Amino acid sequence: MKIAVLPGDGIGSEIIAQGLKVLNALSADGLKLEIEQAPVGGAAYDVSGDPLPAATLKLAREADAILFGAVGGWQYDQLPRAKRPEQAILGLRKELGLFANLRPAKVFPELAEASTLRPEVVAGMDILILRELTGDIYFGQPRGVRKLDNGEREGFDTMRYSESEIRRIAHAGFRAAMKRAKKLCSVDKSNVLETSQLWREVVIEVAREYPGVELSHMYVDNAAMQLLRDPRQFDVMVTGNMFGDILSDEASMLTGSIGMLPSASLDANNKGLYEPIHGSAPDIAGKDLANPLATILSAAMMLRYSFNQDQVANRIEAAVAKVLARGLRTADIHRPGTQRVGTAQMGDAVVAAL
Ligand code: NAD
Repeated sequence: MKIAVLPGDGIGSEIIAQGLKVLNALSADGLKLEIEQAPVGGAAYDVSGDPLPAATLKLAREADAILFGAVGGWQYDQLPRAKRPEQAILGLRKELGLFANLRPAKVFPELAEASTLRPEVVAGMDILILRELTGDIYFGQPRGVRKLDNGEREGFDTMRYSESEIRRIAHAGFRAAMKRAKKLCSVDKSNVLETSQLWREVVIEVAREYPGVELSHMYVDNAAMQLLRDPRQFDVMVTGNMFGDILSDEASMLTGSIGMLPSASLDANNKGLYEPIHGSAPDIAGKDLANPLATILSAAMMLRYSFNQDQVANRIEAAVAKVLARGLRTADIHRPGTQRVGTAQMGDAVVAAL
């Protein structure tokens, strides 16, 4: 199992160091991992003038999976767009064909108080949102702003999904559901949009190959409401790029803790890039304040989705749950009555719990 590790900027190197502690502990326990690191984002720009240098891209291409920290920082904000750290992540998605974005939104019982919803509504919530990442209205042509005959300007974008694009994300959704509670909710707007009607038809066709998965359909406006009303009804949700963009942010905020949430972006063969959903948090970088659990949980996702090591992934997640149950908290999730620890201490505690 060949892993490219790209720490990036800000808190990137601190949180990745904790992820590596966990992987190294598993490696010492017999898991065959080959790990190599490379600079990315601002850190890569500083040494090579390019946020995604050829050597980093080559390492990422040759690896079976990528563990990514975060990129970005105020010192790079004035650079031309092509040189900005954030271009590295877009470049990796494009070059590696990472079309399926998986974002779990899970509430650990001990952290239910951190949600903006009442604890009894969110406690035990465990949703996986699968968002198509490379199509839809964000990329559809034609698009632009044009001048109408009456002199007024008009903006336009095109929502498009081909059958093959829908089919591959639907397969990814069913495969993910098979690894969980075997419930898949496909979210669309087929009462209004042609694109969504095709989406629904194709998802129903693909469902025939997964008789063990219970498929349901929901309009996106209802899905947005149901996430707030009763988020525990969902297991896996699969949807297009724009609906997924909005719903995944909504769902992640229900958990109340940005430092806890991992993500994956997969290609058609389950090669993936795994990263916490948060950014490089320059405000707390270098202060041993960052929560490394989103990164550690990203490593667990990597073992589950790219390497089919479900048991090892479960072991990491159980270790995180155990550390939280013992009352250990980084500053972002600290509450009176719990024990405040730093980034490195949290990583050590997870390794000890493993
Ligand atoms: P951010 O996610 O970095 O930070 C938002 C807030 O959450 C900050 O107060 C930060 O301290 C806190 N936070 C984030 N991660 C945390 C953690 N693990 N533990 C504790 N607290 C944490 O978002 P931002 O401030 O809007 O962006 C900062 C930089 O990150 C920008 O340059 C942005 O472009 C970049 N960014 C990168 C990615 C990525 O690499 N995929 C994603 C989002 C933002």
